[in-house]
Amino acid sequence: MKEELKVKKIKDGTVIDHIKAGLGKKVLDILGIGDGFSNTTALLMNVPSEKIGRKDIVKIENKTLKKEEVDKIALIAPNATWNVIKDFKVVRKSRIEIPDMLEGILKCPNPKCITNSNEPIKPNFIIEEKEPVRLRCNYCERLFDLKDVL
Ligand SMILES: [Zn+2]
Repeated sequence: MKEELKVKKIKDGTVIDHIKAGLGKKVLDILGIGDGFSNTTALLMNVPSEKIGRKDIVKIENKTLKKEEVDKIALIAPNATWNVIKDFKVVRKSRIEIPDMLEGILKCPNPKCITNSNEPIKPNFIIEEKEPVRLRCNYCERLFDLKDVL
């Protein structure tokens, strides 16, 4: 079965493909897409995939992703594919990979950490383990599970 539920192609924007089935909604959450977001967005769930069985796909019109957003998506949907669409064509396609380090995008859950004080210090984590993801704060040196920091 190669048939896929067809959704209108987007002219310009972003398609995140090969998201493990069930995680598409989380990808939207991580991107802050919800109430008040006005770009046309499609979430396709449980699409048959030869590579991974079932997958979710997210399509967002007129949105380009920032590096920080891609890194955040990588934490929950590693190995997803990130497509940049311009004028109905895929102009860039790459696999989303978990970075070795994350800067400035997640808050340290430790209330006593210096990154949560009034000092102008950006939180910074080293990804120590990738499956499942565990991160160590570079300042207070505590180790966290992904659910602690998201
Ligand atoms: Zn910390």
